[in-house]
Amino acid sequence: MRHSPAELKRLDRDHYLHPFTDFKALGEEGSRIITHAEGVYIFDADGKRILDGMAGLWCVNIGYGREELVEAATHQLRELPFYNSFFKTTHAPVVKLAEKLCQLAPGNMNRVFFTGSGSEANDTVLRMVRRYWALKGKPEKKWIIGRENGYHGSTVAGMSLGGMALMHEQGGPCVPGITHVRQPYWFGEGQHTSPEEFGRECAQAIEDRILELGEDNVAAFIAEPVQGAGGAIIPPDSYWPAVKEVLARYDILLIADEVICGFGRLGEWFGSTYYGLTPDLMPIAKGLSSGYLPIGGVLVGDLVAETLIEEGGEFFHGFTYSGHPTCAAVALRNLELLEEEGVVDNVRDNLAPYLAKRWAELAEHPIVGEARSVGLMGALELVADKTTNARFDKSLSAGNVCRDICFDSGLVMRSVGDIMVLSPPLVITREQIDELVDLARRALDETAARLAHAQQKELAL
Ligand SMILES: *Cc1c(COP(=O)(O)O)cnc(C)c1O
Repeated sequence: MRHSPAELKRLDRDHYLHPFTDFKALGEEGSRIITHAEGVYIFDADGKRILDGMAGLWCVNIGYGREELVEAATHQLRELPFYNSFFKTTHAPVVKLAEKLCQLAPGNMNRVFFTGSGSEANDTVLRMVRRYWALKGKPEKKWIIGRENGYHGSTVAGMSLGGMALMHEQGGPCVPGITHVRQPYWFGEGQHTSPEEFGRECAQAIEDRILELGEDNVAAFIAEPVQGAGGAIIPPDSYWPAVKEVLARYDILLIADEVICGFGRLGEWFGSTYYGLTPDLMPIAKGLSSGYLPIGGVLVGDLVAETLIEEGGEFFHGFTYSGHPTCAAVALRNLELLEEEGVVDNVRDNLAPYLAKRWAELAEHPIVGEARSVGLMGALELVADKTTNARFDKSLSAGNVCRDICFDSGLVMRSVGDIMVLSPPLVITREQIDELVDLARRALDETAARLAHAQQKELAL
């Protein structure tokens, strides 16, 4: 039986609790039904074509509608839809995927542990870091330093490693032994000084915290190479080199959460490659399968892997779906396609510089305080006053207004507060980038008009 859109919306409201959603508000407004997708476009139940500037949720790197992935899944579902690898068993898709990932990852990474998602990958990281230091005879090295406004998932460990204040408020008490330092968010928190100086200040904050806690008590530092969910926050160029120096000075593991930056987003296979980092652990997910099926994992550097292998005995951790054969087969085919079609190189050499140029033009818009991008990730800072970078009144929800206007006019951009975020499929063309920038500009015009109107109404009251 086929449900009408109206009926689907009613059933959606009555039975489905959406993730990261105000259930009641959504119930009143109703959901938009997405029916199908092709390339960089999604289509809704009204037949409207919408340019997906978020690649699903930062994940559909290869674009929609790839038959090769359908075939990889279908073939594997027929052959062996599921088998676990708990009982000294394995299967070809997971082994081939593990090998491929280690071939693409930085040279010190030769092992991978699979999970079902990015959150589970970060839970795994927490377990591995603690186990590693225990095996090294330093169980007191327990503290993990994360960052305010960092995002590492929504399980209890993921939420605790992340620095999202609202999640901590609802989900606490958090996992103990995790602390957060300031984020390298120049536009939001660093305008008292130059970006370069601010990057160094933020690295210094890590060192200060290490010394506060005692170097012998700190296990690891966790960060996204570029913060995604926090608002596409691109660190100043001085940040990562200074962080590397700090971490090298003390005996502390580096965890680079590559769930968004991995698989070409920054024009390299990993964000760590882009910034010249040599992490000890890299959680991965999202773009690993281009979102076609759920799969995540942790790439484990030799230092940690060899300790766990040689000295660890049984590691009491794993998931039913660790190394799921069908998900692994699809992920492997996805990586092959990205490689065969030169998608990542094309981002670096062609699309990223083109987006950077076109995106920067939006900085001239009257309500844009900053337009920034790296690779195929971008952000616009919405401001009420360009000369002072003063924000719109919170009650106006400028970001959400702009997001809704974008969606209605045929473009998905996400709002994080008053930051508009962009992360399109990596197979977008230059012409489609032109279309995207045009749609964004028109949405900004309409946002400006609507907010001015709302402000006037407020003044009149
Ligand atoms: C999305 C995300 C996660 C969580 O991944 P899920 O698959 O949603 O559990 C973790 N880290 C980062 C950086 C993410 O962007």
